[in-house]
Amino acid sequence: MKVLVVNCGSSSVKFQLVETDAESARAGTDRALAKGLVENIGGTAVLKLEVAGRKPVKETAEIPEHKIAVDRILDFVTHAENGVVRDRREIAAVGHRVVHGGERFKASALITDDVLEGIEACFDMAPLHNPPNVRGYRAVRAVLPDVPQVAVFDTSFHQSMPAEAYLYGLPYVLYERHGIRRYGFHGTSHRFVSARLAALLGRRADDPGLRLITCHLGNGCSVAAIRGGRSVDTSMGFTPLEGLVMGTRSGDLDPAVVLHAMEREEIGVREANALINKHGGLLGISGVSNDMRALLEAEDTNPRARLAVDVFCYRLRKYVAAYIGVLGGLDGLAFAGGIGENAPAIRARALAGLEGLGLSLDPSRNAGARGSEAEISPAVANARVFVVPTNEELLIARDTCAIVSAVAPYGGRDRGISAPADAFQATPVSASQES
Ligand code: ADP
Repeated sequence: MKVLVVNCGSSSVKFQLVETDAESARAGTDRALAKGLVENIGGTAVLKLEVAGRKPVKETAEIPEHKIAVDRILDFVTHAENGVVRDRREIAAVGHRVVHGGERFKASALITDDVLEGIEACFDMAPLHNPPNVRGYRAVRAVLPDVPQVAVFDTSFHQSMPAEAYLYGLPYVLYERHGIRRYGFHGTSHRFVSARLAALLGRRADDPGLRLITCHLGNGCSVAAIRGGRSVDTSMGFTPLEGLVMGTRSGDLDPAVVLHAMEREEIGVREANALINKHGGLLGISGVSNDMRALLEAEDTNPRARLAVDVFCYRLRKYVAAYIGVLGGLDGLAFAGGIGENAPAIRARALAGLEGLGLSLDPSRNAGARGSEAEISPAVANARVFVVPTNEELLIARDTCAIVSAVAPYGGRDRGISAPADAFQATPVSASQES
């Protein structure tokens, strides 16, 4: 099945066209046929298309709205010379990355009117992300009205967290009235990477005794503790701000810091929001960059760049150690994301001193692992450590394919059937499927 995977932002659409089915997903042979991006929707937009083994194609065009962007993407992938499919009718389903699914969506779901309402009900909690995600759905529906669409939520994987992990120490009424609790994000990545890690360990992902930690370290960063294939804790919270130090986000803070800074700096809510989301993290500490590669290059001569990297690694080490405690031990840990996959120095600095907890790296394996799957712990290790490149789009395509295939015989979206959510959640991409 050819699935168009869409990640819709307020002025951009990222996409991949993925060919997948149950068998190729199980064998791990499903692949992206093409990927690309439309940026600056609402003005002179830039369109990019990449097909493996070919020169990337780039165009500019006036694209006033998302619907036109989707239309252009379909022109792009069906282009006689540069495209990868002959006809847009070959696209059997569309899978959307949706940032927030609240407490309702514990698994990916076929988008029906009812599901759409559920996504809209989360607008308050993800005002920058969920509305463009819905705009993407509507744009696709306008252009491909008969194609089923599936929502894959960043939060779903973490819905298995117990109350003791997701509740804040706040008046309970705030949870009841406004849904103020920890949700966690990057769920698609943690789910993909943990399933792959289980396979690399030769274990079933849903083996109830399997204890894993996955570290997604990109511009946004989070850690998850996973037992038996289910997330039991993760570092992001009500929003993607909590937890690790990130490119521009502060991560964990004493909340009183924000109130104090607002008073002393005489700033309002908007500025305070920007302070902790856009001017904090690696950028805020170093004063030079939010980009880990740039900081690693600068740190020999710039003490604040070094400090930013040190704070980043220390915070990560604290979370890893805490999650070993949460899990009562550890079988495997994986690094993913641009930093996790490409920065051996960060991996080494973050895990330094955790030997007593059974975690260590083999220096030469670690140094050699960049951008592809590799074991980086010593040959004999209590907990094995791997680099596992994440692939959220592939998992979105697999979920979409599985859900659309499962509901089609019963009449699909026209009958308003939502996906077999629980059944699907019970069988995340398992070890055998991932190998
Ligand atoms: P996003 O979260 O936007 O998808 P990525 O997963 O691509 O971002 O991660 C971006 C981060 O990865 C940046 O901080 C970048 O500096 C870092 N990164 C990428 N390559 C390297 C490298 N070779 N060494 C260190 N950091 C790297």
